[in-house]
Amino acid sequence: MEKPAICGGTPVRDSKIHYGHQYIDEEDIRAVVEVLKSDYLTCGPKIGRLEEKLCRVTGAKYAVVCSSGTAALHIACLAAGVQAGDEVITTPVTFAASANCALYCGARPVFADINEKTYNIDPACVAACVTERTKAVVAVDFTGQSVELDALLGICRENGLVLIEDGAHVIGTRYRGRPNGSLADMTTFSFHPVKTVTGGEGGAVLTNSEEYYRRLLLYRTHGITRDRELMEHDCHGPWYYEQIDLGYNYRMTDMQAALIISQLDKLPLFSARRKEIVRRYDQAFAGLPQLALQQEIPQSDTTRHLYILRLVPERLRIDRRQFFDALSAENICCNVHYIPTYYFPYYERLGYERGICPRAEKLYEEIISLPLYYGMTDQDVEDVIRAVTRIAVYFEKG
Ligand SMILES: *Cc1c(COP(=O)(O)O)cnc(C)c1O
Repeated sequence: MEKPAICGGTPVRDSKIHYGHQYIDEEDIRAVVEVLKSDYLTCGPKIGRLEEKLCRVTGAKYAVVCSSGTAALHIACLAAGVQAGDEVITTPVTFAASANCALYCGARPVFADINEKTYNIDPACVAACVTERTKAVVAVDFTGQSVELDALLGICRENGLVLIEDGAHVIGTRYRGRPNGSLADMTTFSFHPVKTVTGGEGGAVLTNSEEYYRRLLLYRTHGITRDRELMEHDCHGPWYYEQIDLGYNYRMTDMQAALIISQLDKLPLFSARRKEIVRRYDQAFAGLPQLALQQEIPQSDTTRHLYILRLVPERLRIDRRQFFDALSAENICCNVHYIPTYYFPYYERLGYERGICPRAEKLYEEIISLPLYYGMTDQDVEDVIRAVTRIAVYFEKG
């Protein structure tokens, strides 16, 4: 028997819709199969092709692709010189990797609170967290909206800090008309399947600095070089290479690179559709005082990766958990982004306590991520809107 909706009656739809889904077409499949039939499965020609393409798409001078967005954050921190005893400022409203990358380097993540309207890291809170030990800022373009780059770059320049933009959500967004990816000291991307462009797994670091670029290449591949100029001993012959630092195997395969190249051809389409869905949601929810919309800074022309529904507790008789369950009963399967990083037991054991970022903590209590992906039909979008509206109206307070 069908489970009834919590508001009574039958659910708005009979099949489940999830919060994200990749879009793979025949071109993508052909691109991957072509690699499988070629001589190189890894370290082949697709890697350089993808790096060139990412430079074209973002306007950055250099791109280094790697195995994941997490690996990208790790090598970016290493290239920035983050080490034991340093502090790295980041937001708690993000995936754990944005802070873990500092821990990988022996540094301490310091959490700065967010702007309560945009949900992005608040530059004033960043400035207040700077100490002599601060080395870098990892700023996350949460949901795809650009962080306030002018203010953050100002703080970083003033204090001699490296600005790393965690752009896992940001591909397709522009800040003051220029694509994110070429604007911070380094920007990282993720190509996980829930992100706007996917390679199954994969990541990239973009930079305009030749020095960072050289270091990123080393850390991606064990700290090994074949560049004569970097070698410390005499060359023994054509087979010779040297390990001159401690790096990792963070390489991407050519299958992944081929898939991402093919996906990037569709970025304008992906971007346009996501913007359209966001406009439709915003329009539908603007008239409901039970809900608050994420606000955009005028500098950001945003390709949203996530659509965040924020509940207004004063206007609703139910809390986030009950709203979430009510949506599930309508077959709208949502998610919550994110649990504040320092809530995790691992971080608690490192001594982080609740209360450091009250705006981020309040946000976490009130949010639900609605379905948002390229392949959603107009009917899917309308179903989500009907379900949200139905629940918000049914459980309105007063
Ligand atoms: C997905 C994500 C990452 C990690 O990327 P992976 O490719 O999954 O390693 C890092 N930061 C943010 C904000 C993310 O959303």
